[in-house]
Amino acid sequence: MSDIINILPDSVANQIAAGEVVDRPASAVKELLENALDAGATHIQLIVKDAGRTLIQVIDDGCGMSDSDARICFERHATSKIRRADDLFDIKTMGFRGEALASIAAVAQVEMKSRQRDSELGTQIVIEGSDVKEQSPYSCPTGTSIAVKNLFFNIPARRSFLKKDSIEMSHIEEVFRRVALPNYKVAFSLHHNGRLLYDLKGGNFAQRIAGIFGKSFSERLYHIQESTEPVKIYGYVGKSEFVRRTRGEQYIFVNERFIKHPSLSAAIERAYSELIPERTYPSYFVLLNVDPSRLDVNIHPTKTEVRFLDENIIFAILRAATKKALGQFQLATEIEFNPSTEIDFSPAPKDYTPKQPKVSYNPNYNPFSSTRPSQPTQRNEYEHFFDSAIGARNNGNDEVAQRLPLDEEPRPNDDAATNGTAPIGYQNRFIITTLKSGIAIIDQHRAHERILYERLMARKGSQASAQQLLFPVNLRFNAADSELLNELLPELEQLGFIISPLGQNTFVVSATPPDIGDKELQSLLEQTINDYKSSMLQKFGDRNQSICLSIAKRMAVKSDTCLQPEEMQSLIADLFSCKAPDISPSGKRTMFILGEKELEEKMK
Ligand code: ADP
Ligand code: MG
Repeated sequence: MSDIINILPDSVANQIAAGEVVDRPASAVKELLENALDAGATHIQLIVKDAGRTLIQVIDDGCGMSDSDARICFERHATSKIRRADDLFDIKTMGFRGEALASIAAVAQVEMKSRQRDSELGTQIVIEGSDVKEQSPYSCPTGTSIAVKNLFFNIPARRSFLKKDSIEMSHIEEVFRRVALPNYKVAFSLHHNGRLLYDLKGGNFAQRIAGIFGKSFSERLYHIQESTEPVKIYGYVGKSEFVRRTRGEQYIFVNERFIKHPSLSAAIERAYSELIPERTYPSYFVLLNVDPSRLDVNIHPTKTEVRFLDENIIFAILRAATKKALGQFQLATEIEFNPSTEIDFSPAPKDYTPKQPKVSYNPNYNPFSSTRPSQPTQRNEYEHFFDSAIGARNNGNDEVAQRLPLDEEPRPNDDAATNGTAPIGYQNRFIITTLKSGIAIIDQHRAHERILYERLMARKGSQASAQQLLFPVNLRFNAADSELLNELLPELEQLGFIISPLGQNTFVVSATPPDIGDKELQSLLEQTINDYKSSMLQKFGDRNQSICLSIAKRMAVKSDTCLQPEEMQSLIADLFSCKAPDISPSGKRTMFILGEKELEEKMK
């Protein structure tokens, strides 16, 4: 059996900024759990009494310590994890400062039992306020058990600063989750006052998330994965319909370490802009892997703050990967990140057939518009998203797949017979149709809102799409609205409106975007001005977006309108060529898909 602990030379010790390690029970818990992980444990038990005031015990089945390591480990700068200053740039362990046990032993009564695999007997050591009270051979299983009793027994001031048990315990639980989440292969349990709070088996990341937050949680997430040179991304981001009013479950880990990084959080959240309402927050669980030498974890003593050498590029990749997970596929056409960086799109699900679906909807009909967004490169990715996001469980039913109306090429002369089932309207609000992945129930108003919104957004800047009105329309507004309208004229012009002020609060509209026409122009513009006024719409900070949203809302086919089958068919086709078809621009679900499995479930 060999001793593995060194005392750091002063030069290295001084390079490591000293910090307060233990300020509350949760920080001791964090250090002990991390030590157990560094020891290679596969099972870690955390036992807490009175929110950590009287007992914090961590039992692991890791490598254990020799007799003398068991003594030395409580000395400051005692660590087995780095030997030279250079090692600081390649840290793969959680700890490396060699301060945690020393700090804990200074402020508590510690009892440690430890045995290495190849020694017959283990060792037991009792330390109180840094003084070794006792060390003796002890018969125990391989691994280490450290019991920290009566924390701050010798610092009454610190003890009196502790919050009530419920608060201290919630800190401990959060620490536990942050450690357990990325180390999903390791089994963890947590007992508090004899009650089992968590019992997590080793498994995969999704199982760990479900083990901590509940099974239903995993249905609320999309998978995110990206493998690039500067960063590898793996994990889950919340579906936009499950956003919360509070920043709840938001976790980013770098090399299995929880980090707080406002800019990377913003990268994820920005991918949701326009998909979710104001002041709501998505959940996310994102594991990043970065070359340790491109990372500075040494800037904060508790190491939740890190610095990336490649921060900008990681930001861009993370945002793009999140957008991709959410089905916002414009990333393929926008150069969002260094073009020299290769993004591997994650592999298609096993049952996904990358075949171009043929279209068989009535090609002569398109009641809403003659123009369709021309983004042919996006379709296949969307198709992929669509299948994987909704879980294409329907194996090999190509009949149905053929009917998925994804083709965007206008084919006016194609007189192929419609051999698919026509969609059905329900209550003049919903459209029911079949897809490869199940039965889709689509909200006609919200779907149309999405279609119009994306068309308007795509139209920005292309004057060509303005449609001259046969008879220009004169409109009059009140003084305040006229002023606002004047302000909005440049944006409206970009969308295809040609509006000229005639003075005295009067305007003449001589052209509109193709979807709009001359009906209800007055109320449409009034509404747009109103929406613009209300802070609700300014959340995007982008006037153009807010105008498009407002016009799309206003122009979208209403809920009590009876659509003809061909109109429905066309609406479905247009919806599925959108970038984000499953959510309306105001953040509501456009459709609901009932898969084969769920149907079977319901039929039981
Ligand atoms: P650090 O983790 O920064 O090295 P610590 O004070 O946390 O410093 O621990 C000191 C040393 O004690 C570690 O480097 C390790 O060698 C040993 N050690 C601590 N906890 C355990 C454990 N649970 N199992 C095995 N060795 C441990
Ligand atoms: Mg440590």
